[in-house]
Amino acid sequence: MIRLDKIEKSFGTNHVLRGVSIEVPEGGVTALIGASGSGKSTLLRCVNLLETPQSGDVRIDDAHVHLSPGSKPRQDAVLALRRKTGMVFQNFQLFPHQTALENVMEGLVTVLGQPREQARGRAMALLDKVGMREKADAWPSSLSGGQQQRVAIARALAPAPKVLLCDEPTSALDPQLAIEVVEVLAQLAREGTTMLMATHDLRLAATIATNVVFLEGGNVVESGPAQQVFRAPQDESTKRFVATLS
Ligand code: ADP
Ligand code: MG
Repeated sequence: MIRLDKIEKSFGTNHVLRGVSIEVPEGGVTALIGASGSGKSTLLRCVNLLETPQSGDVRIDDAHVHLSPGSKPRQDAVLALRRKTGMVFQNFQLFPHQTALENVMEGLVTVLGQPREQARGRAMALLDKVGMREKADAWPSSLSGGQQQRVAIARALAPAPKVLLCDEPTSALDPQLAIEVVEVLAQLAREGTTMLMATHDLRLAATIATNVVFLEGGNVVESGPAQQVFRAPQDESTKRFVATLS
């Protein structure tokens, strides 16, 4: 249901993604793992075209954007694709001048044009889901990192995206606060939320991933069901990487 084909991405002379193809199955959690600098964030940002690949195809459901050198993708196709995604960032990126509730309502009102009362109802339900209902009127600056990230997850889910893209969702958090975020993500996973998560945290990946894609040097060196990749990695560099988990 999400498919990237032959994605090429360079920053200047830095060839970051070298013809990467991945599939993200519906209702599963796909962990994108690999060393720092291996291109995890870049690949994630290519899914919603926050980064524009030089070439390749990005498909989510019926939305499809074809990239080729020297031609710009159609903006309406880019928007259609982007609307099928929600994104959670390492550093939360809540709007600082809006309360938790307003953060979650914002996209529903301004992008989807929902009436405020309807948006408020959905936003409150989502805050409840992530355990942040009592903090609906709090400012981001008064919340812990784990609380901010839970609000950010609610915001990303508000427009009912097909896939939740998470970029190192716990790595800015102390272990104690990371746990509450992992619990929320694990609950969403159990409910069948499709996720693609870039993480260098193998424990997080081992906890909730159903599928794993291992990136190295701009290539997918191994991918498959999480059990298989973690228990019986085939590729030598995957073996070394997974060995750090024990
Ligand atoms: P990871 O998330 O796996 O740590 P990134 O995707 O962030 O890796 O980075 C992969 C490579 O792309 C790195 O060499 C990084 O410096 C480079 N890179 C990422 N984003 C940009 C950017 N906006 N401009 C220039 N280089 C970038
Ligand atoms: Mg990254």
